[in-house]
Amino acid sequence: MKRLFVVLVSVMLTVSMFAGQAKYVFYFIGDGMGPAEVLATQYYLSQKKGELGITPLCFATFPFTAYATSYSASSDVTDSSAAGTALASGCKINNGVVGLLPDGETRLYTVANWAKAAGKSVGITTSVGVNHATPASFYGYRPSRNDYYELGVQLTESGFDFFAGGDFIKPTRDDEPSHYELAEKAGYQIVRGYDEYQAKKNVGKPIILLQKEGRGDNIPYAIDAKDDDLRLDQIVTAAIEQLSKNKKGFFLMCEGGKIDYGGHANDAAACFGDVIAMDDAVKVAYEFYKKHPKETLIVITADHETGGLALTGGSYSINTGVLQYQKVSKHGFSEVLNKLRHDKKDKVEWADVKAALTENFGFWREVKISHDDEMALYDEWYHSFQTNEKVKMAESLYYRDEPLSDLAVKVMARCAKIIWPVGSHSGIYVPVFAIGAGAEQFTGQIDNTDIPKKIAKAAGYKVKQFK
Ligand SMILES: [Zn+2]
Repeated sequence: MKRLFVVLVSVMLTVSMFAGQAKYVFYFIGDGMGPAEVLATQYYLSQKKGELGITPLCFATFPFTAYATSYSASSDVTDSSAAGTALASGCKINNGVVGLLPDGETRLYTVANWAKAAGKSVGITTSVGVNHATPASFYGYRPSRNDYYELGVQLTESGFDFFAGGDFIKPTRDDEPSHYELAEKAGYQIVRGYDEYQAKKNVGKPIILLQKEGRGDNIPYAIDAKDDDLRLDQIVTAAIEQLSKNKKGFFLMCEGGKIDYGGHANDAAACFGDVIAMDDAVKVAYEFYKKHPKETLIVITADHETGGLALTGGSYSINTGVLQYQKVSKHGFSEVLNKLRHDKKDKVEWADVKAALTENFGFWREVKISHDDEMALYDEWYHSFQTNEKVKMAESLYYRDEPLSDLAVKVMARCAKIIWPVGSHSGIYVPVFAIGAGAEQFTGQIDNTDIPKKIAKAAGYKVKQFK
């Protein structure tokens, strides 16, 4: 009888230990997505409908929330590689480095490695280059995040099961083998675009899903995307299909990488459009969660905030609803202006530019602009198109833009009554949202290095940080 009791208790203990373990983990990282970007997007969704208040994003409704500090080993304001490494490995490192401790030598293991060691399938996905800082932080280790060639090589050596993103950044170097050759040699199948993925999804090899040929190394902003551009929600759909083949479960990291590009460019319509695009990808994960609620964990966070976005124009109102009339990103409008230059053989009149501004920003039609802003736009047209002086391009981290496009987006921000004080990162908290098995760990003030450890605890991974 006593022995039976002992057996029963140990069976019950084992069951309770494994009940609710996160067999499936979704880890979303909105690059540059601080609390203001999340909230402003929700104000925007309401104002678009002519209402005050917020229309919640799917992930903002998740029951557990925390604020995470994100300072790195070298600065209170982190960059994406130090933050990505903290979110991946649970260790703080110096800005600009990927996967190596400040001693410059000790290589870090990541939650993706821990998941793999636990027998799970692993997917690393993004809307930017597959060897850009955030995705690389999950498989790579280099003294500089700009070592794109080496990081791409490390991707092909990772042994992970699924990758997706825009493309490899700098896939070739001198006469060394390209990332594509190395990937194929390592047994990966490269698939371009969602159509080709549909046709080849059962090839039986691990897949690297990229944009169609010739479309650059990152997926366009949602605001600029064509119908056949790859989308983050398609990437998560494909990742689930591929990774669920393993009956032991999976770990999937998905980065909304262009939110940060929008922040660096101080382009609210582009930035918020990509917050919504990531939320659409979260919705795919949430549908999966609803089918496996006891065995799925979804965590959404950011690596840092970008642009220092302030939800005030200096008066007691914001007006983000006007952003619905912006039809292209700042960079997209630079291309519109370039085309005008080309088509009009350098004889671009104010009426042409005014028509393009109305078409792409709603100025003078749906969006009223001040006399001062109109004069500033006129002056910039004169300067850019009527004088022979060399046009000084507006530089942000990822783009060089026409100054008139830069100014149009600044006018848009004034109309929306929001302020972007800087074009770099800020040191504000990053938000954390969680639902599912183990989600109750994500509350209060935590540090970004706690997040992968909490995921490991929820999923039963063994934490091994150093190689
Ligand atoms: Zn950034």
